[in-house]
Amino acid sequence: MILIDGKKEAAELREKLKQEVAELKLKYNKVPGLTVILIGDMAPSQIYVRNKERSANEVGLKSEVIKYPETVEEKTVLEKIEELNNDKTVSGILVQLPLPNHIDKKKVIETILPSKDVDGFHPTNVGNLSSGYESSVPCTPLGCYLLIKKIEPNLSGKKAVVVGRSNLNGKPMTQLLLKENCTVTITHSRTKDLKAECLEADIIVAAVGIPELVRGDWVKKDTIVIDVGINKTDNGIVGDVNFEEVSKNAKAMTPVPGGVGPMTIACLLKNTIDCFKRSQN
Ligand code: NAP
Repeated sequence: MILIDGKKEAAELREKLKQEVAELKLKYNKVPGLTVILIGDMAPSQIYVRNKERSANEVGLKSEVIKYPETVEEKTVLEKIEELNNDKTVSGILVQLPLPNHIDKKKVIETILPSKDVDGFHPTNVGNLSSGYESSVPCTPLGCYLLIKKIEPNLSGKKAVVVGRSNLNGKPMTQLLLKENCTVTITHSRTKDLKAECLEADIIVAAVGIPELVRGDWVKKDTIVIDVGINKTDNGIVGDVNFEEVSKNAKAMTPVPGGVGPMTIACLLKNTIDCFKRSQN
């Protein structure tokens, strides 16, 4: 079984991006810029944003974090986004989720210019992805996709089962696999026989949020299994896949932690650089 080392893959991707930023700097005499808006003081969001800033600096991006208190008015945030939309030094804008209840997430996402939407959440980017056009792709499924391609460069005709249909993970993952000519089944909480669906798969991507939902006898021999889940349990952090059981059958699989997680931030940097490149053309 190949243990997919997300930390190593993410470090390699960051190194490639660092070189790319250096080349862009030579060519355009400027570097891509990422601005993150952080509202409130929720500990996980603070940690995510700190990691994003550190990684952006590491690859040579210009990065900025704008912080607002939990009580900030929606209007203030929307006006700031408009200002960043018009700022030529800003290539990518990310508003860290979740937002306080009084701020409309949909409005926030739709105010970000699609060409600066590094999260790939804007409906224009969602539509572009499903139409097969160039667009920003949500960072976590993009990371999963790059890990799968590293193991199996030719995915054409493979049967893929995506467990979970969130806008963040399951749906964009499905689009990426479809683009690679996989036959994709997307499953969710109302799927009748999830085990039977998974047993058909050459590739399983689990993005559910239920600890160790996918068991060893759900996976046929030589399946690639990507575990997006991050679940806090009494035994520490576990994924949506039972690692011990599934690793006996899988051809390759990601651990949790150290699998998909590290790729997410690296893909955010990639999206920022791609937004910059598109803006120069
Ligand atoms: P989400 O928005 O809560 O979506 C969960 C999906 O799982 C839904 O589509 C739901 O179906 C489906 N589901 C729930 N119970 C199910 C069951 N028994 N069988 C099959 N499907 C079921 O979650 P998410 O935001 O996609 O996140 C999923 C997991 O990934 C979480 O553990 C989260 O922490 C983790 N995550 C990790 C990263 C990373 O960087 N590694 C990034 C983001 C999220 P319905 O649509 O029918 O309700």
